[in-house]
Amino acid sequence: MLTVSNFNFADKKALVRVDFNVPLNERFEITDDTRIKATIPTIKKILSDGGSAILMSHLGRPKDGPIEKYSLKHLVTPLSLVFGVKVKFATDCIGEDAIALAAELQPGEILLLENLRFYKEEEKGDEAFAQKLADLGNVWVNDAFGTAHRAHASTAIMGKFVADKVAGYVMQAELENAKKILDYSERPFTAIMGGSKISDKILIIERLLDKVDNLIIGGGMTYTFSLAEGGKIGKSISEPDKVALAKELIQKAKEKGVNLIMPVDNVCADDFNNNANRQIVSRGEIPDGWEGLDIGPESVKLFQDVIAKSKTILWNGPMGVFEFPNFAIGTNAIADAVVKATEENGAFSLIGGGDSASAVNNAGYGDRVSYVSTGGGALLEYMEGKTLPGVAALEA
Ligand code: AMP
Repeated sequence: MLTVSNFNFADKKALVRVDFNVPLNERFEITDDTRIKATIPTIKKILSDGGSAILMSHLGRPKDGPIEKYSLKHLVTPLSLVFGVKVKFATDCIGEDAIALAAELQPGEILLLENLRFYKEEEKGDEAFAQKLADLGNVWVNDAFGTAHRAHASTAIMGKFVADKVAGYVMQAELENAKKILDYSERPFTAIMGGSKISDKILIIERLLDKVDNLIIGGGMTYTFSLAEGGKIGKSISEPDKVALAKELIQKAKEKGVNLIMPVDNVCADDFNNNANRQIVSRGEIPDGWEGLDIGPESVKLFQDVIAKSKTILWNGPMGVFEFPNFAIGTNAIADAVVKATEENGAFSLIGGGDSASAVNNAGYGDRVSYVSTGGGALLEYMEGKTLPGVAALEA
């Protein structure tokens, strides 16, 4: 696979698929620019080689064509400040404007195209649309790992219409770190799985059972396991149709000698809000009318002990409803334990996308773990062993 580091962009117009799907407030200001900052090395390398960059991204989920709220024009000024170059903007990603601005683009310059998803052809992976995008430049750089599990026009199909296909630094780092976990993990290897549902994570849990020594389960998915053991879960979130599957996973873990570790206690609430009444109960003993929203203090201790002795740690999904500060205590304690294992025990720790990544970043721990992935679904699918269309297109 060609990568940005071993490709010379001199006099090239690089079409760079980035993930600028950033959160904006009601004044269209960026509230978290992590994804923009992540692309700086790739874009700077292109410019310093003497190339120019045509940036392509989606923003939000526009359903019916252009909509002000999802226009990438809101990013022009922040990007100009980040890159120290006045960023040009094409008001239509494949229109006359884009064609003219791309044609005039000089080495060292950056052009940002309007939201790709203003065309439904993008998500459909339409070939004619992909060809029009490809015609704007001459090298395709894919640096959007977060959308690599989608066969969209700009994330995969474009690869057919360009001579050179190059993995950006973000893409390269994501793949290297995921490989490190899957293929070269030092033992003991502990996976921590949380989040709301077991159904989203079955495949990865099954695959991890072949690799890990310890599998810690937390978050909403615990209650389906509790049901499988005949426990009482009150009105906690659960998937009764996945109880058989939870039993199977418990059995498989036994057969494979994996230490399956579940919470021994839970913090439960009488209502789904931050200020609800709280009580701590043992696993499987949640009273009627109450719901488990966090792991309890004994579970925190149990999980911390296992994490402290681990040499490889993969964490995906919060331990509770961490959006409510009163129920974020378990998740924050686990973030703390992962940081300690990394700093004091030399563990390699990868935080897998989405909510666990924001939990770690919010706690200010982003640079105190080994790697925080930008990809949620893409990382999970990669770890499940699936071929990601966006990666396959770079290898073709
Ligand atoms: P996921 O996207 O599957 O990683 O799930 C993340 C979501 O799971 C977060 O929004 C959490 O609020 C939610 N979650 C975690 N634990 C619980 C729980 N015990 N009850 C309800 N939702 C939960």
